[in-house]
Amino acid sequence: MTPAPLFFRFKDSYSNLPAHFYARVAPVAVAAPRLLLFNPALAEELGLDPVALAPWAHLLFSGNRLPDDAAPIAMVYAGHQFGHFVSRLGDGRAVLLGEVIDRKGRRRDIQLKGSGKTPYSRQGDGRAWLGPVLREYLVSEAMHALGIPTTRALAAVMTGERVLREQPWPGAILTRVAASHIRIGTFEYFAARGDHQAVRLLADHVWARHFPGREVQGDRYLALLQAVTERQAFLVACWMLVGFVHGVMNTDNMTVSGETMDYGPCAFMDTYHTETVFSAIDHWGRYAFGNQPDVAAWNLARLAETLVPIMGLEEKVALERSRAVIHGFSGQFRQFWLDGMRRKLGLGSCVVEDVALIEDLLAVMQTGAADYTLTFRRLCAAAMDASADEAVRGLFAQSAAFDGWMVRWRARLQQDALGIQERYVSMQAVNPAYIPRNHRVAEALDAAVLQGEIGPFERLLTVLRHPFTDQPDMAEYADPPPRSWQRFQTFCGT
Ligand code: AMP
Ligand code: MG
Repeated sequence: MTPAPLFFRFKDSYSNLPAHFYARVAPVAVAAPRLLLFNPALAEELGLDPVALAPWAHLLFSGNRLPDDAAPIAMVYAGHQFGHFVSRLGDGRAVLLGEVIDRKGRRRDIQLKGSGKTPYSRQGDGRAWLGPVLREYLVSEAMHALGIPTTRALAAVMTGERVLREQPWPGAILTRVAASHIRIGTFEYFAARGDHQAVRLLADHVWARHFPGREVQGDRYLALLQAVTERQAFLVACWMLVGFVHGVMNTDNMTVSGETMDYGPCAFMDTYHTETVFSAIDHWGRYAFGNQPDVAAWNLARLAETLVPIMGLEEKVALERSRAVIHGFSGQFRQFWLDGMRRKLGLGSCVVEDVALIEDLLAVMQTGAADYTLTFRRLCAAAMDASADEAVRGLFAQSAAFDGWMVRWRARLQQDALGIQERYVSMQAVNPAYIPRNHRVAEALDAAVLQGEIGPFERLLTVLRHPFTDQPDMAEYADPPPRSWQRFQTFCGT
């Protein structure tokens, strides 16, 4: 029996770009697809009907059945990986099924990741395994719930095949949703070939797609650099405010839309330290927590290099102005970050001394090895009532320095116009109780991968969908890890 046709109502735009921007390639069917996770709320948002999809979900999200209007492609890109330029990367284990216009009128990519070999696979099997697929599903959805721009997870399917890494693991495919999968590395691919016409087409596409309605003053491509810079400044500020370490900020993993992408070795900090590195391959700490703003600026300079040749400006002027944009990054980042920190500390107003107040708290947290997330969460109650101070103080190894800081903070709150209740509510809304703690993520993944038990993962995901709401039955998910977890490492896990 032939199944009834199934349409996602794709409105592809990227594949209208010239043929050398991508390869037409279909997902490679898998042996025994089984739907493990599905995100009905996101499906609805995309204008898909979860009920109509249900009988076909395991086939659609494994690539065993294509929606009838799909014209899948793999995108080509390049990138600087740990500072070294690789002139051709591309979707080596992913295909873009297509683009839909969601219910809010936004264009969204729907991509299968782990869907088999493509012309860009070079080495590698084009597959993904369950551990990293679940990790990305969980952390990207947690980031979304935290209000941070990110790619999303629509589904996870087990393939019924084994994927050979250091040992064989169960294969899986993630369906990823993004504003687009265009990266800084996409620009670099064409620029490296001297294909300025392609860079121009790509830039025009990105402008129309990600910055519609934004006015252009002066040169259009300088304006694009400025616009992407702003988005990245905002994004990295969001990361820094929640203690997120991306872990692999290569230019091929940095979107121009300003969404967080590529959740390989990422992790959230428990105890605060600017030098925190989780990735086992980041030997030099290039992508350490505190380096993230500088790395983002470095990446944007790589984008600038691709745009300078197409700017309608004399080269010297184009370079000068691009440099000014990149130099502007740190000020923009700093402003987003300071605004966020003021909100975290319950400050409705803004005085010059706030900068020192904020920086001193971080310094005291670092020397006191305090838990980043819990410190801010517990300060919410302390802002209302000094009897809650003890719970914050207990997080610091040296409480004297913390006590000194508290005196200053209290004095500052006195000058601030926010009402007590209002402050409490606004602090709770920006200081999460729940983040994807490494030990909880590991526990949930181990249960799924080693015992075939998805319950712990689902429970954790449910908690993380409401990070700002106290969930008394789930209180232990707010707890930091036992001491033995201090040296936790992540792996790229391709
Ligand atoms: P990532 O580390 O996921 O950012 O990937 C870097 C590059 O390696 C990208 O071009 C990927 O498509 C490619 N790649 C990663 N894993 C695989 C795999 N299992 N098979 C083929 N290509 C891969
Ligand atoms: Mg990548």
